[in-house]
Amino acid sequence: MADLNDDIRRAKGVGTRWAQLLSDDLDVHTYEDMLQQYPYKYVDRSHIYAVRDITCDMAYVQLHGSFISMNMVGEGSHRRLTAVFTDGTGAIEIVWFKGLEYVRNTIKTSEEYYLFGKPTVFGNRINIVHPELEKGDATISNAGTLQAVYNTSERMKKAGLNSKAVQKIILNIFAELQSKPIAETLPQYLIDRCHLMPRGEALRIMHTPPSLQVVENARYRLKFEELFYIQLKMLRTYSQKRMQQSGYLFATSGAYLNDFYKNHLPFEPTNAQKRVVHEIYNDLHSGKQMNRLLQGDVGSGKTMVALMAMLIAKGNGFQACMMAPTEILATQHYESLTKMLDGMPVRVELLTGSTKQRERRVILADLLSGAVDILVGTHALVEETVQFARLGLAVVDEQHRFGVAQRAKLWSKDAVPPHILVMTATPIPRTLAMTVYGDLDVSVIDELPPGRKAVMTEHYFHEKRNNLNRFIRAQLASGRQVYVVYPLIEESERSDFKNLTEGFEYMKSAFPEYKVCMVHGRLKPDEKDEAMRQFVENEAQIMVATTVIEVGVNVPNASVMVIESAERFGLSQLHQLRGRVGRGADQSYCILMTDYKLSTDTRRRMEIMVGTTNGFEIAEADMRLRGPGSIEGTQQSGLPFNLHVADLARDGQIVQYTRDIAQEIIKSDPTLSAPENVIMLQRLNYLEKNALNWSLIS
Ligand code: ADP
Ligand code: MG
Repeated sequence: MADLNDDIRRAKGVGTRWAQLLSDDLDVHTYEDMLQQYPYKYVDRSHIYAVRDITCDMAYVQLHGSFISMNMVGEGSHRRLTAVFTDGTGAIEIVWFKGLEYVRNTIKTSEEYYLFGKPTVFGNRINIVHPELEKGDATISNAGTLQAVYNTSERMKKAGLNSKAVQKIILNIFAELQSKPIAETLPQYLIDRCHLMPRGEALRIMHTPPSLQVVENARYRLKFEELFYIQLKMLRTYSQKRMQQSGYLFATSGAYLNDFYKNHLPFEPTNAQKRVVHEIYNDLHSGKQMNRLLQGDVGSGKTMVALMAMLIAKGNGFQACMMAPTEILATQHYESLTKMLDGMPVRVELLTGSTKQRERRVILADLLSGAVDILVGTHALVEETVQFARLGLAVVDEQHRFGVAQRAKLWSKDAVPPHILVMTATPIPRTLAMTVYGDLDVSVIDELPPGRKAVMTEHYFHEKRNNLNRFIRAQLASGRQVYVVYPLIEESERSDFKNLTEGFEYMKSAFPEYKVCMVHGRLKPDEKDEAMRQFVENEAQIMVATTVIEVGVNVPNASVMVIESAERFGLSQLHQLRGRVGRGADQSYCILMTDYKLSTDTRRRMEIMVGTTNGFEIAEADMRLRGPGSIEGTQQSGLPFNLHVADLARDGQIVQYTRDIAQEIIKSDPTLSAPENVIMLQRLNYLEKNALNWSLIS
């Protein structure tokens, strides 16, 4: 008796060769995998057009008639086969560029065909290139129905495993399974409650749809199932971790936070900052280890949130540390923390690669004795020699620079791990975060401090450089500073480097009365630091740089960000760069310079940048333009199970809905052992086993 679990090699019509191709190119190993190869589109074959009505702007058309002549024309690589097809109302040219001999030998001028293809114009005539053909006179299988079209690779097509063949295999599987209904994977109560179509019916409809409307219901059911099991898996892992992972219990918010809050606040925290501090405190207070991701757009005030969390640690007798990806950033953090803590008995130290040996020894000794409360630094913080007396909380800034996975291992030295707060300015769309970081807690600062002026963004073509220079001059004259950024994706690209240095020379000659500095990845660390310092201290007014300045640099007096060849940057990178200005009270500007000739995609990117400064909107747009895999910091994490029909970029509502339902279920039955839930446990085990097996094999 056939079963969904059966090896695809058992299916009718699948030989060894095709089985190998299905496995290699589509990751299909079982009947079920095959049925999850959903059509990427359906073509309406219910209408037959008359040849005389064909125009070149039509989409796919179906014709019925016969071939009256076939000719090989052209030489060498221009060789092609042309034929004339007629249905009595007119004639149209059909062209093949590949498989010429095969086509010529199989097409018979004595037979009638259904011909299916897209009209195009070639050599001043309307014709159809490489149509789909089906022999037949009147009522043939596909005519009069919606036909499913499947993705296949070039290799598959060459081996005859085209969309048609895929469909045939799928129909064979359905025929074989006929006597046995396809098993349900969701409990009946969910199917009823969420008005879902039974699984077997949904699968069948996807492949042999009676109408497009019913397909939508089937598709919804299958998307629901895919997203639901991902959420269930994430939440179950999360709840298991929670049950096991004990952490330091911070019993109170402590005297230090209270003192800071009452007497030392530099400004009123935004509501979002307050909410996030509460979320963090609840974790610290729970007795379990905190593993929280804090997302907040550039300038949203993550530093003060981190400080408050570290003061809670101090108030409970613990030390804290804060790690940044570069020395410049670590130094800036150190400076802003010391400033905010002015007048409070809290000792903060800075440890980086360039800390002098003598100083370093003192810091390390005082760290071990517990005299240092907060240690700020770079990677240097995780070296063996750095030993805390009682580390209770580690804050990691700008997570995507570190890599998601290794961070968890950083502080596993102690029996009880410290609480971890990871801060990122790369906004990750909520639905994606929920799925990829589904087993982490996520806090979001979704509000900027008051009075912040949104950066004004404009898109200029190169011709407007004179206007740009006039504008820059005016800003410089009023005491502001200016960034000019060049793309240098690969620091070794010679032409990019030339653009950068030419840009540097150009700015020097265009603005001789100001000092221009340059920063790029080829500089030695001390040269780079020196150039940075000049800009930070306003000795230099213009900085020409590559994206090395993207991360966190804070120069509030800089009000203009010019991005050269902006078409070469992705949306999230443009957004990060723009975040370098608009940090002070003055109105700031971002100018995107591009060529006149732009692709539709690029034009869209520029429009999005001009249209919004909201990082989450930009991340959502980025995800829609480039797919979820493109969002920085999420690639390594991956999904526990593959998606075949759901799309994280478009199905956000279903993600949220399935998450809510999964949460409810896990909350009331964490082990999924209630009789009505066992079906889900079995399905999860099955999915996990399969995900594992195939990854071992391939
Ligand atoms: P980011 O989230 O990018 O790390 P920062 O913590 O560096 O942001 O804060 C950006 C700027 O906003 C800093 O100059 C900081 O002092 C200021 N700031 C932070 N929170 C507030 C607030 N609630 N009100 C006013 N200014 C604030
Ligand atoms: Mg920051």
